[in-house]
Amino acid sequence: MLDIQECLERVTQQARGLARQGRVASYIPALRHVDPDGFGLAVATLDGRVYESGDSRVAFSIQSISKLFSLVLAYQVAGDSLWERVGRLPSSNQFNSLIELELGSGKPRNPFLNPGALAIADLLVSRYTQMEGAIVQLLRELSGNPGLDYDLQVAGGEFEGAHRNKAAAHLMKSFGNFSNPVDDVIRAYCAQCAIACSCRDLALAALFLANGGADRGGKLVLEARQAQQVCALMMSSGTYEASGETAFTVGLPTKSGVGGGVVTVVPRFGAVCAWSPPLDGSGSSVAGLKAVELLAIAMQKTVFG
Ligand code: GLN
Repeated sequence: MLDIQECLERVTQQARGLARQGRVASYIPALRHVDPDGFGLAVATLDGRVYESGDSRVAFSIQSISKLFSLVLAYQVAGDSLWERVGRLPSSNQFNSLIELELGSGKPRNPFLNPGALAIADLLVSRYTQMEGAIVQLLRELSGNPGLDYDLQVAGGEFEGAHRNKAAAHLMKSFGNFSNPVDDVIRAYCAQCAIACSCRDLALAALFLANGGADRGGKLVLEARQAQQVCALMMSSGTYEASGETAFTVGLPTKSGVGGGVVTVVPRFGAVCAWSPPLDGSGSSVAGLKAVELLAIAMQKTVFG
């Protein structure tokens, strides 16, 4: 039997030193000033336990991990019709690239690239008076933490520098794949990226994906098939152009964000979240990815023997 707590302590020792190989996101001051030595790890398992190590309760900017939960919300409100707005193809370009958007006539390749997340945000802005509030609410319910919220300083900084995201939205608008005023959607998208969560919060929030779409109380967040499809997208596109490599090393559905968070789903077992701010060239946490890789190896041994 795997001693998960002992495993977390060992993985923390092995992975946290790798952080110095990466660089903290510097595109807004609020992220640039995050402690590069922060490191947290949490595992939530389907038997109701949570295991934690390091700075597992320190809230960090979830950034693109929010795209996972906006996709869940879009699935809930729009079902399969969301795929009229965005594709589910992998991409070998960076998360904020616009090249394929033009080539794809304004339909982003997948919901985890910035253009794809913006198309989803546009869809949600059409359905909610405050879509970022709906994502916060979903995260509060799933994590059981009523105190989690967005960081206004991060949201403001994101909006100031959101030129590429605005360009992507305008390009989609020119192709007829964007309904709302660009600034309204960008403001909501920047707020969703600025949600602050801890590793513990995110491991608990992602747990339903390991459980066929049902939350801890047995309520369906997504249908089993939809949950499996979200996991498939995490596998093919969750770490952008590095997704093939992540699939090879971690071998499990994984989503990263430039705040240094990494979420991995271990189907039928639990969900993992690692946090370490320094990033690799594709915008994922260096030590965070190594931590989920080491944990995945240990956990799969217990699941499959
Ligand atoms: N807020 C960031 C952006 O839109 C999110 C990117 C990320 O985490 N990969 O550029």
